[in-house]
Amino acid sequence: MGFNVVFQKADLLFIFFSFHFSLSFSHSQYADDESDQDSPISRFQRYLIIKTAHPDPDYASVVAFLRSQAQEIGLHMQVLEFGPGKPLLLVTWYGSNPSLPSVLLNSHMDSVPSEPSKWLHPPFSAVRTSDGKIFARGSQDDKCIAIQYLEAIRNLRNRDFIPVRTVHISYVPDEEIGGSDGATKFVQSKEFKELNVGFMMDEGQASPRDEFRVFYADKSPWSLIIKDKGTPCHGSRMYDNSAMENLMKSVEIISRFRESQFEIVKAGEAANSEVISVNSVFVNAGIPSPK
Ligand SMILES: [Zn+2]
Repeated sequence: MGFNVVFQKADLLFIFFSFHFSLSFSHSQYADDESDQDSPISRFQRYLIIKTAHPDPDYASVVAFLRSQAQEIGLHMQVLEFGPGKPLLLVTWYGSNPSLPSVLLNSHMDSVPSEPSKWLHPPFSAVRTSDGKIFARGSQDDKCIAIQYLEAIRNLRNRDFIPVRTVHISYVPDEEIGGSDGATKFVQSKEFKELNVGFMMDEGQASPRDEFRVFYADKSPWSLIIKDKGTPCHGSRMYDNSAMENLMKSVEIISRFRESQFEIVKAGEAANSEVISVNSVFVNAGIPSPK
């Protein structure tokens, strides 16, 4: 998110802060060199070319692709829908003792927008360069995770491994825009309750090597909008109690708190994931002057 400032001759100001509270999870990236048409890498690339960026993620194509993969591996599938046009794909690998609490692996199908003009290769081209890098929006966040789940299960099944507990994978929509028609309704549903989940894993950070960090917590977002009112003014004079002055008091307090948290990270006393991150992301001031 960027920091957008619009200053006009103003009597009303809005400022939007995004807070992220402590904690995290993990994932990885392929280091495989296969280049044939049906390898983990090529399957990953086939997923990457599906246009999943907001505001118009192609969920139908994602579900069709992931279904075909799950079917190939011999997994059970179910498509749920908690909002119109917002499918949620639930894939299941039955364990030898399905009465035990299950394992749930989660991944979201949508991606944040991209600005194609700023990319070396088009964001949904999944171009793989000679040094092995693959370029695609959503490759790390979090299509690599979606594919890793399936590839891991494919490998284990090829070795005739059968888990004791049932393993589910949920592919959810709208994570990047809050998940109100996705994970939020899913976890409140009877379908979720019936899964009897005992352990769950979600996305985290990709790794350029074969070492993967597993995080056991995540940050919770809290969005805060501050609205400040003040005395309207004329450009030729100065008044006390302007909206901007009032707003600055709040900004200063929040900025000091932000600094105190960042200082802890800079001093090496805590990781970024262990402090409260605060970012001001949007400022809006009305009433616009006529052009
Ligand atoms: Zn993500």
